[in-house]
Order: sequence, then structure tokens, then C-alpha cells
Amino acid sequence: MRYMKRDKALVIFSGGQDSTTCLFWALRHFREVHTITFSYGQKHSSEIEAARVIAGKAGVDFFLSDVTQIASIGKSSLTDSSIGMDTVKPADGCPNTFVPGRNFFFLGMAAVYARELGISDLVTGVSQTDFSGYPDCRDSFIRSLNVTLNLALDSQFVIHTPLMWLDKAQTWALADRLGVLDLVRTDTVTCYNGVPGNGCGNCPSCRLRNAGLAEYLENREAVSASLADMI
Ligand code: ZN
Repeated sequence: MRYMKRDKALVIFSGGQDSTTCLFWALRHFREVHTITFSYGQKHSSEIEAARVIAGKAGVDFFLSDVTQIASIGKSSLTDSSIGMDTVKPADGCPNTFVPGRNFFFLGMAAVYARELGISDLVTGVSQTDFSGYPDCRDSFIRSLNVTLNLALDSQFVIHTPLMWLDKAQTWALADRLGVLDLVRTDTVTCYNGVPGNGCGNCPSCRLRNAGLAEYLENREAVSASLADMI
């Protein structure tokens, strides 16, 4: 075995492609894995249901935390159906699919829950490579928050971001290397319109996901080889 398995980890789990891949990455690296899923006022409950089903298949516990207040204090087209969804990134900022503070709140609440479970390793599927302008997906934010959480809770958390420097094709390759390519393709919900699997095909999230999959399937061996050090 390349790595000694560490003790316990908590995965911030949305039921989408990225966090599902992170869940199975965590199962490879930790002896005991827990998940936390947030109901943050997202328009489509299908992703929460996907998370529940996938957690069951993975044999890990599923904890749903209700943080719908997030949608009442910040505006996003993912939580407010009266806002038309940006389909391209605006020149002057991030698209309105950004949910202000989402990863900040999620990681803060996950850290508190992890502390209750005696867990110091947190896993999140954020990625800077496919950065849509979301500031809370950047490595600098995660590193800064890690320090802040340690100070806030007098703990020694380690926030793992296995996808931080991977593009979408590499994320598909990682799922394949972990033996869950088909599960991620069919069971996850990444679509901003809440359509499971391959999704609606038209929203920005579907376009990114499907282009990454096509790129991976065309260059399977080369993309997979680029991950040789990961698992
Ligand atoms: Zn879609």
C-alpha cells in the first residue's frame, strides 16, 4: 500500500461529481469516513437526495445540516428562482451562481461538527483550476480559513483539497482510478438545473462536467497517468 491509512475524516458532501470523488478518495486514505451535507436553500433538492443515496452505497453516515439562512442573507441564482442564471462569466466579477459565503459557512460548520466527532481531517472538493471566479474555491482562502478554524476552535484541523489543482478531465480520471467512474456518472447531481447524471447539458456546470468527461474519455491513459502520485 502506498499510503498508511489515517484515522478519521469528515467530507463536505453535496452529492455532486467533485465531492463524491472526494468521498471515495477519503475512503482510500482514512479508516473511518463521515459526511456532512448542507441544505442551504438550493432550488433543487435532488442533489441532497443524491448525497443520501451515494452515502448509503459508500457505507458512510449521512448527516444533513439545515443552513437555509445562507440563502436569506445573500443572493444567488442557485437559491433564488427570480434571478436569471448567468451562463457565461461576466467580465467584471464572478457569475451569479456564486452563493456568497457558502464554503466559508460550510467549512466553519463542518469544523464544529468534526470537533464533536473527534475528527481533525476535513475534505472538500473545491478546485482553483476550474475557478469560475468563486473566491472561496481558491487555495489561498482554504489555507487562511484553516488557520482561522484552528484558532477559533483551538484545534489542529487539516483541510484536504484533493481536487484543488485538477481540471475536470483529471477529476474524472481520479474517479476512474478509485473505481467509481460509473457511479459518479450516473448517481451524482452537478447540474444547476438539478437534473441527475449527465444533467440538462446546457447550464455552465453541465458544460464543464461534460467537456471534462469527453476530454478524459478521448485521452484516458494520458490523463490518468498525470494522477499517478495521487492514489
Ligand atoms: Zn445542467
